[in-house]
This record gives sequence, C-alpha cells and structure tokens, in this order.
Amino acid sequence: MTRLIEALSSLPGIGVKTAQRLAFHIINQPEEEVRRLAESMIHARKNVRYCRECFTLTDSELCPICQSPKRDHSTIMVVESTRDLAAYEKTGKYNGVYHVLHGAISPTLGIGPGDIRLKELLKRLEGDVRELIIATNNSLEGETTAMYISKLVKPAGIRVTRIASGVPVGGDLEYIDEVTLLRALEGRTEL
Ligand code: ZN
Repeated sequence: MTRLIEALSSLPGIGVKTAQRLAFHIINQPEEEVRRLAESMIHARKNVRYCRECFTLTDSELCPICQSPKRDHSTIMVVESTRDLAAYEKTGKYNGVYHVLHGAISPTLGIGPGDIRLKELLKRLEGDVRELIIATNNSLEGETTAMYISKLVKPAGIRVTRIASGVPVGGDLEYIDEVTLLRALEGRTEL
C-alpha cells in the first residue's frame, strides 16, 4: 500500500491525500478493472509518439490532422502544448493545421529557443505556408515566444498573426471556454 501511494503521489498534481484516496479506490476495484487501467498506461507509453509534422501526440507517424486533405495546410497555428491544440480542436471551427512547441521561451527558467520545437517549425515554413497564427499563452513566456517567432518569420514574407487577448493572462488555454477561444481566434491581429 505504501509503495502504491508513493508511486501515485509522484504523478503531477497528485498530493499524498489524493494518492491515498486513489490507492484505496484501486484496491477496492475488481482485479480485472485494475489490470485494464495498468495496461492502458503501458499501451499508451509504448505506442504514443510525436507527429512527425506538428509534434502533437499521436499513435501513428502523422497525426490525423496532418494526414487530412480537408485541412488547410498553409495555415499553421502555433501552440505551447498538445492540450492547447485539443482546446482549439474542440471549437470545431479551425480548419488549418498546428505546430506544438512543447513549451515557451523563458529566460528566467533557462528555457531558450533551442529547448522548444522551434527549429522544426522553421523547417515547415520552407513549404507552402501563408499564415502563422501564434496562439501561445498570454503569459510573459507566451508573449516572449510570440515576439521571437514573429521576428524570425516575418522577413520571409509569411503573414504572422497573434490571437486576440481576452484570453486571461497566465491562463492555461485548456480551461478557457470555446466561445472565448473562437473570439480570440477571429479577433487575431497582425504582428
Ligand atoms: Zn500532426
């Protein structure tokens, strides 16, 4: 029991109290249920990887969005995380593709441009790209990243836009409702 609680409390956002609650729940479950949970974790760990194009999590070489001929591949929305991508997908109104940076530039935390998937983004811009929509968070790090990308990309003649503020400062995109996200997207401004 101690081992289980320790293992669970090592997960992000799980304190000792929650870990205890989860541990008691698990030992009261039928063994078959617990096995299914454990196996789904192992399966995900084994099979989920980054999309070769946009770096979201997927179980194939290219994610379904990058594979789709129905999406506009000349519009790329740059987000910080796969969760942000999921939030925009939930609106069902964005028809372009994405690029997941997996972080944002943060001089105070020592995270530089080389620590996020920026090189990979620049590589994609060698193709046929009309617009880059920068949808990084409205935090200091998100803004720094947006300005950095804009400075790099604009000389190449690609249109660079930034989603409208209205998305709360420092707020994680995934907690924002779909209407707010859509408004932010539609009200994007040129950088
Ligand atoms: Zn992809």
